[in-house]
Amino acid sequence: MSRIACKFGGSSVADASQFRKVRDIVRADARRRVIVVSAPGKRTKAEAKVTDLLYLCHDTATAHADLAAPFEALKGRFLEIERELGLTPRLGEELEAFRRQVTDGATRDFVAARGEYFSGLLMAEYLGAEFIDPERYVIIDPAGNVDPATYALLGDRLADPAPLYVMPGFYGRDHHGKVKTFSRGGSDISGAVAARAAGAGLYENWTDVSGLLMADPRIVDSPCHMDQVTYREIRELSYMGASVFHDEAILPVREAGIPINIKNTNRPQDPGTFIVPKFTESKYKIAGIAGKKDFAMICLEKSLMNKEVGFGVRVLGILANHGVSFEHCPSSIDSMSVILDDRQLADDKEELIIDELRRAVQPDRIEVLRDLALIAVVGEDMHNTIGMAARVFGALAEARVNVRIINQGASELNIIVGVSEADYERAVRALYAAFVNA
Ligand code: ASP
Repeated sequence: MSRIACKFGGSSVADASQFRKVRDIVRADARRRVIVVSAPGKRTKAEAKVTDLLYLCHDTATAHADLAAPFEALKGRFLEIERELGLTPRLGEELEAFRRQVTDGATRDFVAARGEYFSGLLMAEYLGAEFIDPERYVIIDPAGNVDPATYALLGDRLADPAPLYVMPGFYGRDHHGKVKTFSRGGSDISGAVAARAAGAGLYENWTDVSGLLMADPRIVDSPCHMDQVTYREIRELSYMGASVFHDEAILPVREAGIPINIKNTNRPQDPGTFIVPKFTESKYKIAGIAGKKDFAMICLEKSLMNKEVGFGVRVLGILANHGVSFEHCPSSIDSMSVILDDRQLADDKEELIIDELRRAVQPDRIEVLRDLALIAVVGEDMHNTIGMAARVFGALAEARVNVRIINQGASELNIIVGVSEADYERAVRALYAAFVNA
């Protein structure tokens, strides 16, 4: 019997009643043996997530201001859960010790990670499980990625299949032994790491929706549910803005071929969405549509650019020297454009980069376009199907959307179009209708 690793997100551990649902879910299947938890999330729209309260505590302490308000709010959240679950009151003392650590200058990552830590302590006690502190077993490299040494280390700790384990998500330690967090939403990564280290047969990711939708429901009215989607498809979709699942969480399980099931803690009977290694079939030819705003494009034009050896290297080298990463790089015979997240051009970066590009490659024309949105139509089945591009561009033309960028990756897994931000929602609706309501 292979084990199931389960990650419960912030809304699944937001209060005592959610903890009870988690217990029922864990008890309902004896294979659920490795449990990873987030810090408590919001109970109401207006409330702060515990992780945000922790960042506030750290910032307040750094500014030498009074910590009382955020700290009391934080303490209240944990003590209420402890009390309502009837657990032995232990956390009060730990929380007071933590308050002293915050005032004494604990690092930002250490402070942020305590949300998951306290949540994990409560969950382990409530479920009668072994508590695993990821500070000892999860190693995070300087770029914020999982160090592969983690799998053996954590795998050894999880080797005995009998016990129930609870591990906090979101953090581990860096190469110097200091607590380090993943990026926001990183408990999804911890869950994937635990699934792989335990050799689990399935990674269940428990959240507050019954799986993934084919488009953003804030833009498209009641989009269809995805029953099944591949790793490659979901990586494209979540990178391009479909939230729910952290885009970096795919890699650890993908390398081990472990399927993921996105499930709803509030409706455990729903099948959710399966994220699987291999494509089998699709009803609509596409898996989904996702997109993001806030892109910029640096456009360079130069006659005979195609003959100039090293043109592209020089352009991308300048961006690299400024620590700027690019998303796409469409080109034509005499032009090259670089599309990037426009926050990377903030402050004086844009001017500096443009000046350097002018000097280094002496373009005939150089221009920066702003207010761009990118939309990806994603599906493994697309490359087998004639007329996909026609459908994309036909739908956009009919909706009177001007297409400013066209890009298709070598994998033919997606068609990406760039449109003005003002046309973004209209374009997504038109594309959705062309594939799903056709
Ligand atoms: N608690 C962290 C956050 O709010 C990590 C997580 O929940 O995945 O980002």
